[in-house]
Amino acid sequence: MSNLLKNIFRFLRHGHWTRPITRQWPLILFFIILIGGASVTKNLYYRAFIIFLQAYCVAALAHLTKSKIVKGLIYFFCYVLFATETILIFTYGMHISPTTLTLLLETDQRETTEFLTTLISQPQFWMALAVIVAVAVANVFAEKYRLRVSQWMETRKWGGVTRWIALVVIIIGLLSSSCYWSLINADDSVEVDDWGVIHKHPKDVMTRLVMAFVDIRAGKNEMMKNLEIVRQMKPVAPADSDSLNIIFVIGESYIKAHSPIYGYSLNTTPVLLKEHQQGRLFVFKDAVTPFNMTTNAVRNIISCNAMGLGEHWMDRPPLTAVFRQHGFHVSMYDNQRSYGNDQNTFMFSLSNYLYMPEIAELCYDELCDSAFHFDGKMVDYYKARHLNPPAKKSLLLFHLMGQHVLFHERYPDEFNHFKADSIMRTEPWIDTKHKELIAQYDNATLYNDFVVGNIIQLFSDRNTVLVYLSDHGEEVYDYRDVCGRKAFKEEHPDISFQYSVPLLVWCSDKFKEQNPDIISDIEKALERPLSIDNVCQLLFHLADISNSRNDYYNPAVDVLANEYHCPPRIVEKTMDYDSVMAAFH
Ligand SMILES: [Zn+2]
Repeated sequence: MSNLLKNIFRFLRHGHWTRPITRQWPLILFFIILIGGASVTKNLYYRAFIIFLQAYCVAALAHLTKSKIVKGLIYFFCYVLFATETILIFTYGMHISPTTLTLLLETDQRETTEFLTTLISQPQFWMALAVIVAVAVANVFAEKYRLRVSQWMETRKWGGVTRWIALVVIIIGLLSSSCYWSLINADDSVEVDDWGVIHKHPKDVMTRLVMAFVDIRAGKNEMMKNLEIVRQMKPVAPADSDSLNIIFVIGESYIKAHSPIYGYSLNTTPVLLKEHQQGRLFVFKDAVTPFNMTTNAVRNIISCNAMGLGEHWMDRPPLTAVFRQHGFHVSMYDNQRSYGNDQNTFMFSLSNYLYMPEIAELCYDELCDSAFHFDGKMVDYYKARHLNPPAKKSLLLFHLMGQHVLFHERYPDEFNHFKADSIMRTEPWIDTKHKELIAQYDNATLYNDFVVGNIIQLFSDRNTVLVYLSDHGEEVYDYRDVCGRKAFKEEHPDISFQYSVPLLVWCSDKFKEQNPDIISDIEKALERPLSIDNVCQLLFHLADISNSRNDYYNPAVDVLANEYHCPPRIVEKTMDYDSVMAAFH
């Protein structure tokens, strides 16, 4: 310790503060390459000072401690961040962000294995690995010749030049670093987002990591705010009416262009097609999701907010709380709820939005206590637990695994119906491997149709209305050589496969008979554009709680109401869906 103090004293007194630069130049150089790539390629003027200051600080640490362990740890940390970011960019076109960090934290063991399997099967992964290895090799060489170059740099002339330049850069870096103050003090994720879009703020990998953690902490504040809103809700005496079952099915990664209901050439949805032909299924043509990631999409689907009116999900209660307030018995069957890891980790995640114990107690009468490999098993489980008719008024939610990545894992063998040769695609870049994956996706869609059919069957002779939608779409080589939800590099991309989603309303014969007005409202609305964050309004309308006693009902965003007017449909908070698609066509 006394050695370190002596070093610091000498360091400041004799102008030795330039030594970290001349002696640890490889660490400075590679810190900037590994961590600060974004700081020296974009908006250099603002960001380069900050990244140099950070590089200088770690070099000073290595220089003063003269410890190989300290230096090794710094390198280790840098390479972990660099490798994560590089692999994310190459394989998914993504960065370290609150979203990716949340995904990592939310992923359970089954998903981790699936994720890693998908990852190493991609050629882009091996390209990323090659880049990482190449940088590491260059780094080893730099370290090998470190002392020789140091001696050359410390000749009088070079020492003088570096000293002055370094001093100016370090001072500006110190002044610019004050921007972190407002990031660390951000109260909610909107403030974190706002901080991130300011050009002069650094975007290096370490800053991204800090942003992600601040955002996750902010998410915890948001949940507390949301909980308080739900706590304030007072029960509303239900209007005396007939029994009614509202079923809300949230699908997963459903590309609507892969359903014949929306014009697909293969019959992936025989059950729904039949219901459609018999007049019980109503197909909304133009529904869009605001996000292509489950957490953000489902949070805004469940919350009674209208994003197009600038309402944040945390400022409105979940629709489940509103249904309960109006006397409905609310059940939730979620095949994506992961157990074991949601008790003590971060509260930012979707599972905490839906299942934070205080929230769950206020929102549900019944929760499914198991998870199943196939969605159909969850429906069987529901059936086995409900041999008696449901409560007089009930809302039942099913959240399915649907067509989530690794499509072939989503259906049992007997649904292995479509094969590569069923796929009639003739683009030159489509080969058998592509066709196999498309066929697997179509089989998953076929199984999903069977699952939804089973849910319908449970309620077909009761007064029931079912709403089905998907949290977001997906891509499986639909118009470009891409499988998954990757970023768009094209100037005019077709974002419909990821953001346009199926929205279906199924009505039992009894419901149709008893509600001719609602049926006519539905028929009038099928062509209207809408964003699925407003689906709660549709559910309120169908459940007949679309009145002045419901504080959260807003006819302006209820697609079935005469007053309806679709607000701008902004996806990922930045893209106007309709203008992007207009540019594509
Ligand atoms: Zn999803």
